[in-house]
Amino acid sequence: MADVSDFDVLILGAGSGGYACALRAAQLGLRVGLVEKGNLGGTCLHVGCIPTKALLHAAEVADSARESEQFGVRASLEGIDMAGVNAYKDGVVQRLFKGLTGLMKSRGITFIEGTGRLTGPCEVSVDGTPYAADHVVLASGSYPRSLPGLDIDGERVITSEEALRLDRVPASVVVLGGGVIGCEFASVWRSFGAEVTIVEALPRLVPLEDEASSKALERAFRKRGIGFRTGTPFQSVKTTDDGVAVTVEGGEVLEAELLLVAVGRGPATDGLGYDEQGVAMDRGFVLADERCRTNLENVWAVGDIVPGLQLAHRGFQQGIFVAEEIAGLSPTPLDEAGIPRVTYSHPEVASVGLTEAEAGETYGADAIESLTLDLGGNGKSQILKTQGFVKLVRRKDGPVVGVHLVGDRVGELVGEAQLIYNWEGYPEDVASLVHAHPTQNEALGEAHLALAGKPLHSHS
Ligand code: FAD
Repeated sequence: MADVSDFDVLILGAGSGGYACALRAAQLGLRVGLVEKGNLGGTCLHVGCIPTKALLHAAEVADSARESEQFGVRASLEGIDMAGVNAYKDGVVQRLFKGLTGLMKSRGITFIEGTGRLTGPCEVSVDGTPYAADHVVLASGSYPRSLPGLDIDGERVITSEEALRLDRVPASVVVLGGGVIGCEFASVWRSFGAEVTIVEALPRLVPLEDEASSKALERAFRKRGIGFRTGTPFQSVKTTDDGVAVTVEGGEVLEAELLLVAVGRGPATDGLGYDEQGVAMDRGFVLADERCRTNLENVWAVGDIVPGLQLAHRGFQQGIFVAEEIAGLSPTPLDEAGIPRVTYSHPEVASVGLTEAEAGETYGADAIESLTLDLGGNGKSQILKTQGFVKLVRRKDGPVVGVHLVGDRVGELVGEAQLIYNWEGYPEDVASLVHAHPTQNEALGEAHLALAGKPLHSHS
């Protein structure tokens, strides 16, 4: 048995949730231990947000070269040098990794390398060595899930992890799953010249978004030559001499070089002792209340293992919250609907708050109104030659409860949108704010002007 309380806070997993908790706890003067079996930074930094966004930027550069003529610039796309793309992507990850490692050291956080298990109410054993702490934070993250009977071989049938390590641009890909990860990879590969078909069991791409956003993305993807089958469950896959043959419900067979399985992420909680110690769980997820408390005293849970949006910034915020709660600061719990969401495809889809359907269910269809402003009238969007919209949902005579955006670069607008939602802004409040011209931000301002009954440029 280890000495009582080696740490004030011991964190299991150094991904977005775990490391954010460690940094904030150390800042608040707590003795912090951070256990990690892989790399500091976890999924997001090494095989998630950062490398995928680097690929998407390379894809944007490829599109710019290919489409340069429409801007009067003579350039041509000679091809994609995947070794070069990967070197750029890995360079970004390594720089951030180095920075984060230095930050951990400078904050005096004890980094414990190895595989941890919860072995007591407030004890974690790392490769057999027990550490006791006053508080334990479970932050073991997630892994790419598959479907029953669908085996990932890592060669022809791959997940996002192998997709990020590919040393070539595949000639063709079937992407199983039209959620965020599936749509982002489909977008990258199409920009790099691959034939792409998305298979999605639900009736639309990015099914968690407002229906209008899904429709706009589908339109844009169709125009880009990205094929998709929605409302079409996967049935089976066979590997062939030169790829895969994917059979979907209804009998259609889609042949391609690769099958990317992007059907969601499962909680990484198996065999970690959570069950044995009596942590309340549901289908592998750790149940935590709005203050990130599990059913065990002084055992907390953050990030992808807790049911809800599996996003890095949610994990960060929960990690910070737990550190502050342990330090006695009584922070305000997170409103899940107030977490901004972005799909970084070409075009991007971004949102915060409720979809129109959710707002209708919450407040009653008669008690809400919505407004959609096309980006066609927005100068900067015209300059960028991007199409899309700003859609607002408000409670009648009340605050804005949902903001939905489609178009290149609109992910950057979600910063203002989340302030409006989280501060319960009224369209009238936003209408009086000045938006710089010409920016895409103006479209957000203009939409609020219109919803406040004083549209400047639109016809109504
Ligand atoms: P993780 O980041 O998964 O970290 C958990 C850590 O725990 C890991 O490092 C793991 O090695 C460690 N661990 C697990 N078990 C043990 C053990 N027994 N002992 C020791 N260590 C252990 N989110 C966004 O917000 N924006 C994006 O653009 C985005 N893009 C993504 C793209 C892809 C392809 C993927 C896969 C994910 C993306 N995400 C994105 C989601 C984001 O990566 C996750 O939400 C985030 O990483 C979750 O953080 P976490 O701390 O819960 O878990």
